[in-house]
Amino acid sequence: MLTGTVDLAATSLLNKLIHKSLVESRQNVEVLQRDPTSPLYSVKTFEELHLKPELLKGVYAMGFNRPSKIQETALPMMLAFPPQNLIAQSQSGTGKTAAFVLAMLSRVDPLKKYPQCICLSPTFELALQTGEVIEQMGMFCDGVEVVYALRGNRPAKGSNIEAQIVVGTPGTVMDWCLKLKIVNPKNICVFVLDEADVMIGVQGYAAHSVRVKRVMPATCQMLLFSATFEDTVWQFADRIVPNSNIIKLKKEEMTLENILQFYDSCEGIEQKYSALGNIYGTVTIAQAIIFCRTRKTAKWLACKMVIDSHTVELLSGELTMTERACAIQKFREGKVKVLITTNVCARGIDVEQVSIVVNFDLPVNTDGQVDFDTYLHRIGRTGRFGKKGIAISLIERCYLNMLRQIEEHFGK
Ligand code: ADP
Repeated sequence: MLTGTVDLAATSLLNKLIHKSLVESRQNVEVLQRDPTSPLYSVKTFEELHLKPELLKGVYAMGFNRPSKIQETALPMMLAFPPQNLIAQSQSGTGKTAAFVLAMLSRVDPLKKYPQCICLSPTFELALQTGEVIEQMGMFCDGVEVVYALRGNRPAKGSNIEAQIVVGTPGTVMDWCLKLKIVNPKNICVFVLDEADVMIGVQGYAAHSVRVKRVMPATCQMLLFSATFEDTVWQFADRIVPNSNIIKLKKEEMTLENILQFYDSCEGIEQKYSALGNIYGTVTIAQAIIFCRTRKTAKWLACKMVIDSHTVELLSGELTMTERACAIQKFREGKVKVLITTNVCARGIDVEQVSIVVNFDLPVNTDGQVDFDTYLHRIGRTGRFGKKGIAISLIERCYLNMLRQIEEHFGK
């Protein structure tokens, strides 16, 4: 991983850790059916899916009352007979994992003591997360077991695996199927590939996934999930799951309509700090995110604010995943009003609602030019769901030309 680039796997894990509840989307799902003439079902309740009672019990025990937006359409497709292949894309936290876990649990036969479902995840930690969901949702499904095909877990050749569901990373799963031959691909009825966008970012994983897919029986149901869908993901998806149904849930468009954008021109970092103090004084801040260009500035700012007895959380690349998740969680729960962060750290992380975004530094890319995308992404965190938001940029006088560029770019 190049330094400075966004670590997709880390972001993905972080989003998993902070999504303790569903991200509700008001966007509609877009469905592309392989056979457009077949009727399209969607469900509003879990009962309509005719799940095994012990599975339905597990779903309710997790506190799910009704299917999420994407689950409404995805679940009937995933549970249909004959099984249908599916590619589904929606942002993190919208219920994809819960959906394919449900599909796997509903297809396994607990009386048959051998692997019947495989789920590929791009990292060790993400695989464990998925495994936990399987164990939780399947808690009343007697006799159903999960096994982890991950580095460090190396059963001997010829050993007998009784678990029905295998969760693991592509390389290890490939070894278990092809080298150790402890998973017989012929018995697999559901093959899930999770986090496809992250998967293709890991060296060798796309190739391993394709090799595993090739040994699956023609009757095996293939399901592929991704939070984003760029062309590369698309090409990969097409190799793993050709001719499939496709479901997309659009992310809410970011707009600048509801956002009031201000700037304050300053001379040097100390003056920026006092400008920030002024904002504090005049506005009773509900919740604010402050973006800094470097870790160093972020740390400096956080320390200074703490000394001035403000309660702030610092979200920085130096923290471990659990510490980062904890910082975001405190902010989301409103225990902390101010989150100080850097670009790299905050990209891709969903903090749904803030009232004020402060650019302590304007976002620039590696060649020092204004990074419009990041600017939009940062300030787009405010002013959502029809509410008014405020974005304030603190700009050193020598960079005022960047401000003009932003005005021109967004026509505001
Ligand atoms: P994704 O895989 O898209 O990131 P998850 O399946 O992990 O999303 O779901 C995100 C969060 O929402 C999890 O905490 C999960 O338990 C919860 N969740 C999923 N489906 C439902 C549902 N139908 N009702 C309530 N909560 C749900």
